[in-house]
Amino acid sequence: MNPPIVLITGGSRGIGAATAWLAAQRGFAVAINYARQADAARQLVQRIEAAGGRAMAVQADVGEEAQVLRMFAEVDAKLGRLSVLVNNAGIVDMKARLDEMSVERLERMMRINVVGAFVCAREAVRRMSTRHGGSGGVIVNLSSAAARIGSPDQYIDYAASKGAIDTLTVGLAKEVAEEGIRVNGVRPGLIDTEIHASGGDADRAFQLAHTVPMKRTGTAQEIANAIVWLMSDEASYVTGTTIDVTGGR
Ligand code: NAP
Repeated sequence: MNPPIVLITGGSRGIGAATAWLAAQRGFAVAINYARQADAARQLVQRIEAAGGRAMAVQADVGEEAQVLRMFAEVDAKLGRLSVLVNNAGIVDMKARLDEMSVERLERMMRINVVGAFVCAREAVRRMSTRHGGSGGVIVNLSSAAARIGSPDQYIDYAASKGAIDTLTVGLAKEVAEEGIRVNGVRPGLIDTEIHASGGDADRAFQLAHTVPMKRTGTAQEIANAIVWLMSDEASYVTGTTIDVTGGR
């Protein structure tokens, strides 16, 4: 039997990479999307293959529709019909108040974090939905505790982009529930990855750890565990929900 196929956007580093590795261990063929760092994606593919799994790396900026279309076509051609999409690619920006934010910044944030996730979900539905001749599937969207907290004085734009992801999860789940597709989200808290450095503050997660009821940051592995559970048949009656994995934050 052919293995089920999962596409993980931003699968080359951090939470996406931990998810790719775990999904491969669970028997998925894994398409690992990345934006710029081809080496990280290639190394992960090699690690999965060395462990007996199946994987491919696929470049695309999810904020560019033409690149998303090419990415899905490459996955179709190389691995076959998609069973799972993990909408994981996401960015933060430098710490700023709203009264300091440019329109360029806001448009980039929304293009990558919101429009990118919507377009990837659209392409997945076109392949998975029984309405389009597909045999069903699963979509998991990466939100953030920021959607609840609002991230004042840090990045309200990022928090709002994740609020949009929560709404995508609720609405799309209802839209395609009868078409064999489950749609859920995971809302990570402070997780030890390189995303904080990309926002200009590599130690951010550790500095804020004291605000977490469990008094520590989380690991990418702990988020991957929730994502891969939602992907699995163990979550067969779960749709339209977003799970907080935040140490109580
Ligand atoms: P990360 O360590 O910064 O990794 C980001 C991944 O996304 C990389 O694989 C990167 O590829 C890729 N990427 C970035 N921009 C992209 C684009 N435009 N198109 C395609 N891929 C792109 O991030 P992370 O911490 O694992 O975060 C993953 C998700 O979890 C994000 O949606 C984030 O918002 C969410 N989240 C994270 C935390 C946290 O504390 N870490 C908390 C809440 C939510 P390259 O290697 O090519 O750059």
